[in-house]
Amino acid sequence: MLKIEHIGIAVKNLSESNNLFSKLLGKKHYKTEAVVSEGVNTSFFQVGENKIELLEATKENSPIAKFINKKGEGVHHIAYDVEDILTEMKRLKEEGFTLLNETPKKGADNKLVCFLHPKSTNGVLIELCQEIKS
Ligand code: ZN
Repeated sequence: MLKIEHIGIAVKNLSESNNLFSKLLGKKHYKTEAVVSEGVNTSFFQVGENKIELLEATKENSPIAKFINKKGEGVHHIAYDVEDILTEMKRLKEEGFTLLNETPKKGADNKLVCFLHPKSTNGVLIELCQEIKS
């Protein structure tokens, strides 16, 4: 793993939280993006070499809606930047971690992503992400 790429935070209302985080961080988010397949709207803030990703559910049964219903707003996942997602997925699977998707999927912010089940990672949902180079 190269570095922590971003920290994902589940929020109830993205525009309210964009205001809150812009006050907190002293800067505005640099983009918003809907990931229709995941049922989320996202926004990103750059903080040094890392990012904060805010996630708002767009439908009742999306993973973010379920998370907020169960635990409330808060830290949802930690994302690690990887050089080669397929190699990391294979390595982590062999180490006994549970992958939530067996093939990388397209995430927000031009990334290929894979999630690790929090049951296999001390309760923290882990996202691997590899930048899609065009
Ligand atoms: Zn993320």
